[in-house]
Amino acid sequence: MIACAEHFLPGNDAEPKPDDDVVSSLSKTLGVQAITTDDLGIASKDFGGLKFVKPLALVRPYTADDVARVVRAAARSPTLTVAARGNGHSINGQAMAEHGLVLDMRSMDELVQLVRINGAPYVDVSGGALWEDVLKRCVSEFGLAPRSWTDYLSLTVGGTLSYAGVSGQAFRYGPQTSNVTELEVVTGKGETIVCSKTQSPELFFAVLGGLGQFGIITRARIVLQEAPHTVRWIRVVYSEFEEFSSDAEWLVRREEGESCFDYVEGFVFVNSDDPSNGWPTLPLDPQQVFDPIHIPPSAGPVLYCLELALHYRHSDHPSRVDAVVDGLLGRLRFIKGLKFQVDMGYTEFLLRVKRDEEHAKINGVWDAPHPWLNLFVSKSNIAEFDSEVFKKILKDGVNGPILVYPLLRNKWDSRQSVVVPESDIFYIVALLRFSPAPPKGPSPQLLVEQNRQILQLCLAKAFDFKLYFPHYHSRQDWINHFGNHQWSRFVERKTAFDPMAILAPGQKIFSRVP
Ligand code: FAD
Repeated sequence: MIACAEHFLPGNDAEPKPDDDVVSSLSKTLGVQAITTDDLGIASKDFGGLKFVKPLALVRPYTADDVARVVRAAARSPTLTVAARGNGHSINGQAMAEHGLVLDMRSMDELVQLVRINGAPYVDVSGGALWEDVLKRCVSEFGLAPRSWTDYLSLTVGGTLSYAGVSGQAFRYGPQTSNVTELEVVTGKGETIVCSKTQSPELFFAVLGGLGQFGIITRARIVLQEAPHTVRWIRVVYSEFEEFSSDAEWLVRREEGESCFDYVEGFVFVNSDDPSNGWPTLPLDPQQVFDPIHIPPSAGPVLYCLELALHYRHSDHPSRVDAVVDGLLGRLRFIKGLKFQVDMGYTEFLLRVKRDEEHAKINGVWDAPHPWLNLFVSKSNIAEFDSEVFKKILKDGVNGPILVYPLLRNKWDSRQSVVVPESDIFYIVALLRFSPAPPKGPSPQLLVEQNRQILQLCLAKAFDFKLYFPHYHSRQDWINHFGNHQWSRFVERKTAFDPMAILAPGQKIFSRVP
């Protein structure tokens, strides 16, 4: 239950209605095609494949008004909750609603509209739009593109803004939540509010990184920049974590005006010829070969890769691109002989994980369970995390990428709801497990247990860390996650914007107030 939650009585309907009445009256107002109680397939599962929960109904809203009507209808019942479902790429049922209403946000009317304010370009998009569609339309219609991305783009705008949205551009522009200037939100009170840093700012900052707790994003205004034409995509390999991390930090700390890459990420891979975890995962092109002769004898069970990209335009002379890349790479301490690079179109680069998705679908690992773990770990603890977790617990890999790269705290706005470690640099660590389902692969429970072991270790060593995409079972765990001060703020925001705890029940933070 929410502390001090006020009851909200919508309209004149003081008497609560039974759930079935709510569904049938919604069918009348929204049209029967917009609501189903039979075909609940997509609403009952997610990418994680670990949770299956049946809602009462799946609703397909087209407009913000439809969304508001559904929230108000849920408020008239004593028990109904509402989960906005983006593209269902959650891991732990966060977009589900047991016996509640699931809104399929992808059915929202398509909106990709260029807006200029004082000459600067922005795009207004629907909360249910996929980032890949935003990319394609912005590049092809306006020659412009958002600045901050996720690695994989079949995710919705509302889904990633409810967390942060992080990729290799975040060191420079901050997460996606730092690249939004206006939102249209339907709160848990069923009110539709346009908010920004200056207009209803408390709602604006609450919703960004707000785990879907305060409102449903129906429209977002995203900052745009000129879209580059081409990208030089580079991977360089390290055997020593200290050299890898200090080079990565040097790159992300470059000052404005100094030459620097446009994208900086990193990952850990196994020092072996294992096809899913080792050397063969490095080359960027089938013609390239990873020659292990270059690996120094002192190397341990895992190696590290810095993944970099530089944007350029057709009009840039190739020698300029070479000079910038060579100038930067010349300062790095990677293993000479273990450098891979390709040049490709900008859109193709941003859609690179789509190609992995196609392969994973063919291999059957896309639809298998994904017990992923995502963390933010302070710079002060990352070396010990490497020696205890990467080199020991994960020395055989996770059958998928193990991302690790630095982010700058000053690019994150502390007024938003997301919480990150205290230090000025922290690392994102992502265990993107792609094991086949049993009996070919390990039991998902074993992998969940391995995640738990890693978290226990972080707690036992008092690391300064936070879960990204947090998932907890107890109130105390949520309080610990936020810390006392931010937890109080989170509860105040809940009381203000969703006092009956109708929204995003799958996060398991608050219980519905009857
Ligand atoms: P869903 O899973 O549908 O929803 C997530 C949460 O947001 C739920 O609580 C839901 O109720 C709420 N929600 C959804 N839509 C709205 C809305 N319009 N308004 C308010 N609340 C809403 N994340 C990164 O930061 N960087 C990455 O590079 C990255 N890569 C990924 C790659 C893959 C293959 C996968 C599966 C996930 C990846 N993610 C990444 C994680 C991803 O950002 C989150 O899982 C995100 O929530 C997925 O978006 P979705 O649209 O599928 O959201």
